[in-house]
Amino acid sequence: MNLPRKQVMNCIKWNFHNSYTRLPDSFYADLNPIPVQAPNVAILNHALAESLGLNTRELLETDAALLFSGNRLPDGAHPIAQAYAGHQFGHFTMLGDGRAILLGEHIAPTGSRFDIQLKGSGQTPFSRRGDGRAALGPMLREYVISEAMHALNIPTTRSLAVVTTGEPVAREALLPGAILTRVAVSHIRVGTFEYAAALKNIEAIKILADYAIQRHDPDLLDTENRYLAFLDRVIERQASLVAKWMLVGFIHGVMNTDNMTISGETIDYGPCAFMDIFDPDTVFSSIDHHGRYCYRNQPHAAQWNLARFAETLLPLLHPAHEEAVALAEHSVHAFSEIFQHHWLSGMRKKLGLFTEEPDDIELIENLLAWMQEHRIDYTGGFRALASEAIPTDPFHDAGFAAWHARWQARLARQSESKESSFCLMQAHNPAIIPRNHRVEEALQAASGRNDYTLTHRLLAAMSNPYINAPEYRNYAVTAEPTERIYQTFCGT
Ligand code: AMP
Ligand code: MG
Repeated sequence: MNLPRKQVMNCIKWNFHNSYTRLPDSFYADLNPIPVQAPNVAILNHALAESLGLNTRELLETDAALLFSGNRLPDGAHPIAQAYAGHQFGHFTMLGDGRAILLGEHIAPTGSRFDIQLKGSGQTPFSRRGDGRAALGPMLREYVISEAMHALNIPTTRSLAVVTTGEPVAREALLPGAILTRVAVSHIRVGTFEYAAALKNIEAIKILADYAIQRHDPDLLDTENRYLAFLDRVIERQASLVAKWMLVGFIHGVMNTDNMTISGETIDYGPCAFMDIFDPDTVFSSIDHHGRYCYRNQPHAAQWNLARFAETLLPLLHPAHEEAVALAEHSVHAFSEIFQHHWLSGMRKKLGLFTEEPDDIELIENLLAWMQEHRIDYTGGFRALASEAIPTDPFHDAGFAAWHARWQARLARQSESKESSFCLMQAHNPAIIPRNHRVEEALQAASGRNDYTLTHRLLAAMSNPYINAPEYRNYAVTAEPTERIYQTFCGT
């Protein structure tokens, strides 16, 4: 099969302006996606397409399949595999898009720029020993969870389509292959900067940093020390992002530096999962043996990654090395306080608090300790507090009663009404999260029996996570012990 680059599917209205390919050659490899045998659309995100100014509703399904498999390239695309490096579980490695192709950057009618990337698109010069492909289950998983994160108001890459390839992929068994179309504000990672630093060419780091600033923080271009200001921005975005994860009980699972974006979007939905029973040591990833990326360690892991990021910028921060190190250390140290600020402000909202009191931290920590001791469902527990009625079992407990009285007294010390507090709480405590067992049952039906009913239902339930809709009641309850998922997998 050949790939006619000029082939146009006019109705969709792509508007590609590809800036990444103007970086030095070493940052990417020119490469087309490898065609697949029998592409078929599994799921297509028309709402996202619309928000990007793309018209997918009039696209023939066969054309959509050709497009989102990479068998036919859109006009204006300049397909590349991006080079990057990364610290994986603490160890530095040269990586790069081993199974992804960036088709190009689409400019939406709002003027915003979005990377359009195919994931699972075949081998590239960065594939190492991998087959360049992806299985249907994990690509649907990324689709569902990334769209759920978006609905939860958490910055994330988005998912435009999943297309099956008609080719099996060999994993623990032969599985149906698939390609995901990922949409991102950019795919520039901490690992991209580590790659530039590994080239041992200060000019390369400067070019990448200027490019990233131009793309994400153009208001910093005229700042006195723009690289320091940029470092602070990235730290701010990551502190805010990880606080948001913590507030909804999200565990990323593989916080390697190659999976941390400069834009502050959540990326790489491999082994991620939402915690059900509250336990700060929760780990789902099958490869995270030492709990490096467990729930409670996520802020620390983010700060560690940001230290690696800061190191790559040292030559740009100050001509004198010691001065540069001091500036970087100061910025990276500030992460803890910035994170704490975001977390505390989010927790106050979860508890209906409009005002700030010094004892709020203790109030929050006591609740969390009680939830841990009593193995309370994290999402369900907070949502129960957000209902007018005093929560029933398992909240009938002396420890909880004492906490509840303190909380009520605290609420009474602010001028806002109880109703306002409940509104605030309901807007910040989701009723519905993509619970592992619900995600798993949907993926098994889709991948195993080609039945997408549950996937669509889950997506519909998730699209309004702060509404406790009676028809989606079974998405709001915790898993029975027999339904509980204990492990997730990545690199699939
Ligand atoms: P991840 O664990 O998804 O963050 O991937 C880490 C690295 O492995 C990236 O460079 C990926 O491109 C690469 N990779 C993961 N799966 C495959 C695969 N099936 N074939 C080729 N490269 C892969
Ligand atoms: Mg990755």
